[in-house]
Amino acid sequence: MANTEAEQLLQEKFGYDHFRTGQEQAIDRVLAGANTLVIMPTGGGKSLCYQIPALLLPGLTVVVSPLIALMKDQVDALNDNGIPATFINSAVDFREIDERLRQAAMGEVKLLYVAPERFESDEFVAALNGIQISLLAIDEAHCISQWGHDFRPSYLALAAVPERLTSHPAVIALTATATPRVAQDIRQRLGIPAAGLINTGFARDNLSFQVVRDQDEDKYLVDYLKKNPDQSGIIYVSTRKEVDRLYTLLARKKLPVARYHAGMADMDRAASQEDFLFDRKPIMIATNAFGMGIDKSNVRFVIHAQMPKDLESYYQEAGRAGRDELESDAILLFKPADVQLQHFFIEQSDTDEAHKHLQYQKLQTMIQYANTDQCLQQFILSYFGQEDTKPCGRCSNCLDTREAVDVTTDAQKVLSCVVRVHERFGKVVIAQILAGANNQRIRQWRLDELSTYGLMQHQRQKEISTFIDFLTAGGWLVTKGGQYPTLALTQTGAAVLRGQEKVFRKTAIKARKSLPADD
Ligand code: ADP
Ligand code: ZN
Repeated sequence: MANTEAEQLLQEKFGYDHFRTGQEQAIDRVLAGANTLVIMPTGGGKSLCYQIPALLLPGLTVVVSPLIALMKDQVDALNDNGIPATFINSAVDFREIDERLRQAAMGEVKLLYVAPERFESDEFVAALNGIQISLLAIDEAHCISQWGHDFRPSYLALAAVPERLTSHPAVIALTATATPRVAQDIRQRLGIPAAGLINTGFARDNLSFQVVRDQDEDKYLVDYLKKNPDQSGIIYVSTRKEVDRLYTLLARKKLPVARYHAGMADMDRAASQEDFLFDRKPIMIATNAFGMGIDKSNVRFVIHAQMPKDLESYYQEAGRAGRDELESDAILLFKPADVQLQHFFIEQSDTDEAHKHLQYQKLQTMIQYANTDQCLQQFILSYFGQEDTKPCGRCSNCLDTREAVDVTTDAQKVLSCVVRVHERFGKVVIAQILAGANNQRIRQWRLDELSTYGLMQHQRQKEISTFIDFLTAGGWLVTKGGQYPTLALTQTGAAVLRGQEKVFRKTAIKARKSLPADD
């Protein structure tokens, strides 16, 4: 269904010769007044899906975005393209707000960017109701779902907005991260029919996902950066302190690094961001405070030196590499200590138990990603509900040419141990029992009397623990519960235990040099 007007705008105003997947379909629906949910990967071109309709529809398009700090830049960029747009947020004073609303009412601007909090004010909604609004665009729409990774209470109120607006605008919601459950939640809250879902898939064919386990991260980073000189990239870590430490370390090695975290003064942060954007310092070391809305096309790598809290965050952050569609790396450095750090963050967060529980479950998926043998891209896509995919052929697992070895016997040892303790314990205890650890908890619970005690005493407890993560990632085991998840068998796990199925893995479990210590 070619819309010539839309196509003409694409070429004349935006300077592109054809639409990308999903864009035209979204624009057609919106122009027909139908509510729509667009799911496209980062860099897929979501903005055009409402910017072009904004220019073609008679009334105003209101764009809700949580990125207050970026509104001005977004609006400036549109104005530079000759697209009349403005914004209203807490940085704009009352008189100026009135003036901007007047411009919107007069049709002098076609797009009005606002923060979600605006809709908490009845006065603001009343003011909007003096304006003909054709379209309500909700960016980062996953923020409306409590099942998402970035739930924002201010987004909940948006569900009622289409009804509160007397001109009953069409709604277009957009996001780059939504599991099927989150997508359904967004649709339900915003009244978008199933047919209104435009999902282009999440695959990023130019990203090579890699997991690097248990390496000295400083050394890895220095080597990587020396091997890839003059390239731009982002290194994510979990704490401000770690940003500062790495920054000092890498700057001392004469590497062109910038840093960014929420503890820095606004001015320093802005300067740092500019250094990065203009490639004066092409390597950014940052916490997850950095990156939302940053549109730097030539980012060649995103390295997570510490594991993030969930796969949604990981994919979103990693997705900042390769917006120009050139080959780029998305590397995760994994070490068990990062899991502890995430546990700490969850415990410190002031959310209710149910939400903590959810966060622990999401963390489990992240750990599985770091320990799976499966294609990493496929692992991510299947988490986001995309099942019919082929191995990517580029990720570190696809490129791992080691022969898979039969680890069925080891798997059976683990599985039978889980059964012996009636699925009441988690990874740490199971690994301790199998390794034959002799500590207070083991004695107190008389776990040393189990038939599986010490069954893998020739292997390191840490290796067994990693092997359990592998079995969980592969679906032979599942974790249940939150902070201290217990392990249970799945159907396929039971089949392995009965000897009906085999388990293969690229790495055998290393034997330990000495006999078990008292860990
Ligand atoms: P998203 O919001 O999905 O992350 P953007 O809307 O910011 O992505 O678009 C990402 C980049 O792709 C931008 O630089 C944009 O100008 C560009 N882009 C969007 N649509 C097209 C198109 N049809 N052809 C070429 N480039 C496009
Ligand atoms: Zn792969």
